[in-house]
Amino acid sequence: MAQQDDVFKKIVSHAKEYGFVFPSSEIYDGLSAVYDYGQNGVELKNNIKRYWWDAMTLLHDNIVGIDSAIFMHPTIWKASGHVDAFNDPLIDNRDSKKRYRADVLIEDHLAKIDDKIAKEVAKAAKRFGDAFDEAQFRATNTRVLEYQARRDALHERFSEAMNANDLEGLRQIIIDEEIVCPISGTKNWTEVRQFNLMFKTEMGSTADGSMTVYLRPETAQGIFVNYLNVQKTGRMRIPFGIAQIGKAFRNEIVARQFIFRMREFEQMEMQFFVRPGEELKWFAQWKEWRLKWHKALGLGDHKYRYHDHDKLAHYANAATDIEFQMPFGFKEVEGIHSRTNFDLSQHQKFSGKKIEYFDPELNEHYTPYVIETSIGVDRMFLSVLCSSYEEEQLPGGDTRTVLHLPAALAPVKCAVLPLVRKDGLPEKAREIVDDLKFDFATHYEEKDAIGKRYRRQDAIGTPFCITVDHQTLEDNTVTLRERDSMEQTRVSVDDLHKLIHDRVSLASLLRKLK
Ligand code: ATP
Repeated sequence: MAQQDDVFKKIVSHAKEYGFVFPSSEIYDGLSAVYDYGQNGVELKNNIKRYWWDAMTLLHDNIVGIDSAIFMHPTIWKASGHVDAFNDPLIDNRDSKKRYRADVLIEDHLAKIDDKIAKEVAKAAKRFGDAFDEAQFRATNTRVLEYQARRDALHERFSEAMNANDLEGLRQIIIDEEIVCPISGTKNWTEVRQFNLMFKTEMGSTADGSMTVYLRPETAQGIFVNYLNVQKTGRMRIPFGIAQIGKAFRNEIVARQFIFRMREFEQMEMQFFVRPGEELKWFAQWKEWRLKWHKALGLGDHKYRYHDHDKLAHYANAATDIEFQMPFGFKEVEGIHSRTNFDLSQHQKFSGKKIEYFDPELNEHYTPYVIETSIGVDRMFLSVLCSSYEEEQLPGGDTRTVLHLPAALAPVKCAVLPLVRKDGLPEKAREIVDDLKFDFATHYEEKDAIGKRYRRQDAIGTPFCITVDHQTLEDNTVTLRERDSMEQTRVSVDDLHKLIHDRVSLASLLRKLK
């Protein structure tokens, strides 16, 4: 674990050193859980968004996009349930003055029991070698059974308290389990209080009578309230989807793990409207399609898993998370939810406007059911960054830090490097850049020795380096160096476009989703 923490720290500092992610307002000592994307980060982020957007809107002729405003009528958040129920249970430690989410303290405690079980299993696996039967060991070992029984009982109690919104019950679990503050080490806890995660602000001048508005905590409601507009103007027929990418804001109580949990972040959400009764079929379909989208990036199939929710929100009839193996464990990157007709019905009720669909095939009116896919851009960015980072040991004892970014997502696709800064090589290199730059993000670099320049491109994940040397002037060939294998091949300048395109184009990635 300590080793993983170390790797994560290195990734965070690499992200800063190479212009991917900076702490917000850094010269003023930063702003907690807010980050800025730098010159390379913004390109990577845009490419992730483009991959999602095109996969939704180009590959499905029944999905269209919108871009709704961040400010919305405040009643929307009443209708959606956010004003009354978008809360986290908060608890303070009186000695350290640190604030925690009560549910997270208990979840971390559960994870510690899981770790103890995992350690027992690992120890036994080592002892018994090939003969080890894990299922049998878990079913019979008294220590494991004891831990498991304790864990199950605690989990049951925790779920009950969470579902009943029983704040005193949550506090009692923390007391009974003797959970201590990680900073002060004491059990001097306050009461548990509900904390609404929405940011509020005022719209209009006070003289006019201002109105409290919220910074949206999710983009989805902008889709629901535009359902009728899009359905009618686009003459959409069910099933169809509306996709949107945009900022969302949550006043998270404890923000940690870099860009994993931010107060200002970006979501890519798609609501798919279906016939009542067909939602579970579509839920299964979207579960499969979304995982395929993730896996096509080639970050490693074993790094994903579904986490099906056993406790569902009252309006949902199925929900799953796609979790990704971050350096700090498997974590939610995307949620897929079958939300019945809850949101549209609520907006119908609160707005007094009829929100229905006339199904010409069934010859009936109904309020559509919805499957939602909701993914955080920043979490996706983090998963790509973490799984691409490598400190590679080279033969000869050298190490290089390389980002094995999926080529279609890399901020820079190719760098053109004149071997020396004279003899007409820079001019020839510029000529090549001027040709490639219309199709690919292309860098020109002439400073420092060629090896150093290669390393700099490796560190930002550039898939190709093109080196121009004296021979180029004679026969119009260059050296094409590939990032991952470091293999160098001599190719004609005329072939560069095709060679690069085949590897880095978004289209080649999208084709994998067919
Ligand atoms: P969590 O349980 O981690 O708080 P959530 O279940 O509240 O997440 P959703 O409301 O389902 O998250 O939001 C959909 C997606 O938005 C998440 O899967 C995640 O990728 C992203 N997301 C949510 N909250 C944040 C945040 N504070 N910072 C960055 N991304 C976030």
